[in-house]
Amino acid sequence: MDFKDILYRRLVKYAKVDTRSDPESKTYPSSKNQLILGGMLVKELKSAGVRKTGMDKYGYVTGEIPATVSGKCPVIGFLAHLDTSPDASGKNVKPQLHRNYGGGDIVISKKLGVVLTPKNCPELLKCNGEDIVTASGDTLLGADNKAGLAIIMTAAEYLVRHPEIKHGKIKIGFTPDEEVGQGVKYFNVKKFGAEATYTFDGDVAGAIEEETFNADGVKIVIKGKSVHPGTAKNTLANALRVAADIVSAWPENRLPETTENREGFIMFTDLKGGIEAAELSGIVRDHDLGELKAMERHLAAIAEEKRIKYPLADIKVEFKEQYRNMGPVIARRPEIMASLSAAIRKAGIEPRIKPVRGGTDGARLSFMGLPTPNVFTGGYNYHGRYEWVSLDGMNKSAEVLINLVQEWAKK
Ligand SMILES: [Zn+2]
Repeated sequence: MDFKDILYRRLVKYAKVDTRSDPESKTYPSSKNQLILGGMLVKELKSAGVRKTGMDKYGYVTGEIPATVSGKCPVIGFLAHLDTSPDASGKNVKPQLHRNYGGGDIVISKKLGVVLTPKNCPELLKCNGEDIVTASGDTLLGADNKAGLAIIMTAAEYLVRHPEIKHGKIKIGFTPDEEVGQGVKYFNVKKFGAEATYTFDGDVAGAIEEETFNADGVKIVIKGKSVHPGTAKNTLANALRVAADIVSAWPENRLPETTENREGFIMFTDLKGGIEAAELSGIVRDHDLGELKAMERHLAAIAEEKRIKYPLADIKVEFKEQYRNMGPVIARRPEIMASLSAAIRKAGIEPRIKPVRGGTDGARLSFMGLPTPNVFTGGYNYHGRYEWVSLDGMNKSAEVLINLVQEWAKK
């Protein structure tokens, strides 16, 4: 299966619409151009022969491909997001195609000195001989997640043209505002009507994600006691100093900058206050809920130590749940990952399951009743000027989608 030309044409077309989402916006979707791209996609889905296409008032684009098998077959959905990250410019994106990558540096812009090198991005070396797409040095590429849009669109078109391929009913959804954490805010899981869904929003070929962090927030409120510094001996409690003491007492090997893979951390994100009062906020993250709770007990114990050290200060520690690892939800339906792995192997690559060090829309969907792991698109270095995607990786991803619907038809 070779879809590279059409995938490239679609990626370029979508990249030209600046669909950066806006964290400051009060509207939904957060930027108008997402609706413009959404409108383009509705037209394209229609001309590809996808049924029941449309865009609702929130900017959710949906469509459906009827089953080619009779009898009971699970309805499967595919999702990608329309917006790109607000972290880098998305205006006037000019994709460049670097054919037949030879393992060295890729000059994205000589003038701006933007050079992609395997020294900083070893993932590139997995793409020897492949065709790589980048932007031109002053913008992101937007392969996150326009590669996903192109992959789903292309695979859908292929499936419509090949009714001999056996599959159940397929649902397609393109969603806005993922990058500002609002992608599924108004998503109607019931109306979408799928039993399981896959987001095509991952990175290099083969990588799949079924786990996110468990996430809590922490707030520590400290009340001090202000006394004139000249006569403060044994009567002053400086809330600011207590807060600083707590921050520095947290172990160094449990910080985001010292952990990777499945290691959890606490990061303090904000400290405000003075002598009278101080407030310290942070985030707690771990893939394992037991480990997350253990870190919280450790932080509470540090606070207890400080209560003894500073008896005049009042220290309150409070944890608040933010989101949970979707892994256990997906694991309840083992066929979801089993069919994905089989589809990837059929495309000639070995699946690599890796935990996401963050949250995803899929995690929110999973807890809304729609288990949603994430599938590779072939891209990397998202949200910046060094973003790239392999056309061969995109091609593999489209092939995986086509294999996947057939795996589900065997169920
Ligand atoms: Zn994305």
